[in-house]
Amino acid sequence: MFRTLYGRLMAVFLAVLLMAMGGLSFLLYQRIRDDKIDARLDELTMQARDVAFLAGQRSVFGSAQTDRYLLWKSQEIMEDFGASLLIVDRYRNVIPISDTQQEDDELTLAAALTLLNEVLQGREIRAPLVSATTGNPIFIVGVPYIQDGLVLGAVFIHTNEQSIETSYREILAETLRAVLMAMSIGAFLILLASSYMTRPLRQMAVAAERFSHGDFKQRVEVTGQDEVGRLAESFNSMADDLERLEQTRRDFVANVSHELRSPLTSMQGFINGILDGTVPEGEREHYLNIVLDETRRLNKLITTLLDLSHIENGKTPLSKTRFDINEMICRVLVRQESVLTERSIDVQMDFEHETCYVNADADRIEQVLVNLLDNAIKYGGEHGCITLKTKTASDGVHISVSDTGPGIPEADLPFVFERFYKVDKAHTTGKGTGLGLAIVKSIIEQHGHSIRAFSTQGEGARFEFTLDRG
Ligand code: ADP
Repeated sequence: MFRTLYGRLMAVFLAVLLMAMGGLSFLLYQRIRDDKIDARLDELTMQARDVAFLAGQRSVFGSAQTDRYLLWKSQEIMEDFGASLLIVDRYRNVIPISDTQQEDDELTLAAALTLLNEVLQGREIRAPLVSATTGNPIFIVGVPYIQDGLVLGAVFIHTNEQSIETSYREILAETLRAVLMAMSIGAFLILLASSYMTRPLRQMAVAAERFSHGDFKQRVEVTGQDEVGRLAESFNSMADDLERLEQTRRDFVANVSHELRSPLTSMQGFINGILDGTVPEGEREHYLNIVLDETRRLNKLITTLLDLSHIENGKTPLSKTRFDINEMICRVLVRQESVLTERSIDVQMDFEHETCYVNADADRIEQVLVNLLDNAIKYGGEHGCITLKTKTASDGVHISVSDTGPGIPEADLPFVFERFYKVDKAHTTGKGTGLGLAIVKSIIEQHGHSIRAFSTQGEGARFEFTLDRG
């Protein structure tokens, strides 16, 4: 039972309920019992007063007449209250009411006589006693009987505890019934509540089981903002991440296979053609050069993949130095000068200061600039303009590379940094591998900074990243 959350909740609930109800019932029982005893003693006192009145009239109306009344009264008290009557005069003589005076009267007499003096002073008394014969508690009330202002004796009525108890036992039984009912209803409600509260946990267990088999589709229901609700939310967001990662992994394998297979197939075709003579003698050199280009491309692709994997695994640590990023930008531009001229691309350098020192790994940042400039040239189109901007802000140095090309559609913007992501999937063969921006992002993140892409379609694209000030 204690293995499940429901079982534990239930055990705690029942223990608390039992303690609370037990305590409450005990107090209630005591209270009702005291009230009942008080009420019964009040009634017995009233009866004793009636008897005292009759006993006081004894000398006026003659004892035979009064004794008949007293006998009747005594029987009535016995029937109605299960109590016995005892009349003692001031000389400690018991006034006999019937021939069949009860046996234990004699014994109660001794107890009653201990109270006699108090009653003879004109006071009414009530007291708990212990029966000398049975040892059970007895309740006794004593009332003086008076004639002409003189206390002639005392009327005692006594009853045992059982005759009072029977009435409050019923109340106890009622209370127990109420406790049992409350416990059953409570147990049912807690079953519902715990099953509702633990549903997400059970779903999580099922989902986790599926995750272990590679199925990341399962999500759990978020039932509220409590701890379990928040856990369910975190679980779902973890599941989203896992699903995305799994998808990326699958895409990556598919992309790598595709990127490797296409050049290999074309190379195989050319070599077969050369070997079986389909390619004429004079054209062989041309096709062999194509094969050589493809092998170079393949080599570059594999080197890039290895680079990316090294950067992402953190295998090659950064060697940070202080250098002028403006000067590095100029150097990278000079290397691309011929392509820029060939494509009639105008370059603008918008440097806030003549020098701008950063603290970073120079080789890696050069690779970032090369990749971004490459893309601006490749995708910015001919006769465009590329702007390289640096400025210093409180969070570091901001560097941006923008072009005036066709830009990147809004729907593709969030994905351009993913490995193998190409916006124009159909026409980019030969243009790139879709790994350039993934490398750029990894390098910048390795530096503890971020890179963002902005673009309005038709108005060019802008890539902006930050670095530590040097
Ligand atoms: P690739 O090797 O294909 O250039 P990248 O990771 O560098 O791969 O870029 C990913 C994709 O983002 C590119 O295929 C291209 O569609 C888009 N892209 C990158 N830079 C630009 C840019 N300056 N203008 C328009 N599209 C761009």
